[in-house]
Amino acid sequence: MKDETKCLHSGYTPKNGDPRVMPIVQSTTYVFDSTEHIGQLFDMPTAHMYSRFSNPTVEVVEKKIADLEGGVGAMCTSSGQAASLLSILNICHSGDSFISTSTIYGGTVNLFAVTLKKLGIECIFVDADADEETINQAFQANTRAVFGETLANPALAVLDIEKFARIAHNHQVPLIIDNTFATPILCKPIAFGADIVVHSTSKYMDGHALQTGGVIVDSGKFDWTNGKYPEFTQPDESYHGVVYTRDFGNMAYIIKARMQLMRDFGAYPSAHSAFLLNLGLETLPIRMRQYCENAQKVAVFLKQSDKIESVSYAALEGDKYHELAKKYLPDGTCGVISFVIKGGKEMAVKFMDGLKLASNEVHVADIRTCVLHPASATHRQLTDEQLIAAGVNPGMIRFSVGLEHVEDIIEDIQQSLAQL
Ligand SMILES: *Cc1c(COP(=O)(O)O)cnc(C)c1O
Repeated sequence: MKDETKCLHSGYTPKNGDPRVMPIVQSTTYVFDSTEHIGQLFDMPTAHMYSRFSNPTVEVVEKKIADLEGGVGAMCTSSGQAASLLSILNICHSGDSFISTSTIYGGTVNLFAVTLKKLGIECIFVDADADEETINQAFQANTRAVFGETLANPALAVLDIEKFARIAHNHQVPLIIDNTFATPILCKPIAFGADIVVHSTSKYMDGHALQTGGVIVDSGKFDWTNGKYPEFTQPDESYHGVVYTRDFGNMAYIIKARMQLMRDFGAYPSAHSAFLLNLGLETLPIRMRQYCENAQKVAVFLKQSDKIESVSYAALEGDKYHELAKKYLPDGTCGVISFVIKGGKEMAVKFMDGLKLASNEVHVADIRTCVLHPASATHRQLTDEQLIAAGVNPGMIRFSVGLEHVEDIIEDIQQSLAQL
C-alpha cells in the first residue's frame, strides 16, 4: 500500500459487523478466565494486560506508524520527550555514553546534556556537518548509540542520514533518528539506514494541536547480539529470565522498551489521545503536501524582502542544505521556515507582535500558522553570544506555516514588515 492508503487503513481492519471507525477502548484493565492465564502473562505478555503499557486503541496507531516508517513494531508514548528518553534508556545505562548531533530540538538538548548526565549517561555532541574522521573521534569504548534529527528544529539543517548510519554501523551501534518535522510522508529514515525512529506526534502527526504524544519505531534490523548489548542477550530477571533477542528475534528492541521501560515508567498515552492522533494521521499525506506548497511560497516571499537578512528553508534553491534536501526530502521540507529579520532581537519581537493572523505560541507544525522567537522563549536563558554558538541567531524567528490560504499568510507577514 502507498502512504495515503496506509494512513487510512493500516492497523485496523474491521471484520463482519465491526465498527467502521477504530473504537476507543477506554479501559484500564482486561479480564481473563483464570489466575493461571494472568500468571502466564507476567512471564510472556501475549495480550493486553494493563493500560499503563498497552491498549488496543493505542496499538492500532502503533501499527499504523510502524507501517508508515517501514518498521517491525512501534510503541507510543505520552510525549515526544518520553519517546526520546526511552529510546536512549533502552540501550544505555549509567556509565555508558552516546553521540548526538548538536543541531537538535532544544528540549532534547536539555534532556541529553543535563538530565541524562545526572543519571550517569554521557551525551557527546558533534557537529552534524563535520567530516567522518572528526565524528569517528567522538566514539569511546562505552558509546552505545548515535542520535540525530532529519530536519533540525529550529535550525532546519538536513541530516546526512546515510553518513551517520555508516559511521554508527562501523562502530557497531544503532542510529536513532528524530523524524518529527519530516514525518514518514516526506522522509523514511529506515530506508537510509536508521535503526530506530522517534517522533513527537504532537506536531504534524496530530497536526491540530490537540494532545502531546510520541512514538518509538523499531526497524528490526540492528544486531543486538554483537556483544555490546548484554541487556538484550542475557536473562531479564525482572521478567523471569526472558532473553529479548532469543525470545523476540527482530522485535527485541521494541518489546524490551515496552516490557521493561513502559512497565516501570508508565509514560503511555490514553486511548482517547490515540484516537485523536489517529484522526490526524488519516489526513497526514494531504496536509504535508499543502504545508510544503504554502511554505515554499512564503519562503520565496521572505527571501526577496529587503527587511529580511536570511531565510533557512532547505527546499529553496541556494539553501545550505538544498542538496541534502533533494536526496532525503525530495517532496518538500515541511511547513517550518526559520528566518532572521534585519535589526536583531528587537526587530524580531516587533515583527512578531505585529502579526495578526499568525499566533505567538509555544508550538510548531500546527494546522494554524504560528510563530516563536527562540531567543526570548526556548533559548531565553542564553546570552547573545551563547545563542550564536547554539545556532540560534538572536533575530531568528521560527515561522510555522499553516493551512490557511497562503495569500492570507503572506499578507499578514507583509503588513507586519511594513510597520518596522
Ligand atoms: C517538540 C519536539 C520534541 C518533543 O516533543 P513533545 O511532544 O513536545 O514532548 C522532540 N523532537 C522534536 C524535533 C520536536 O519538535
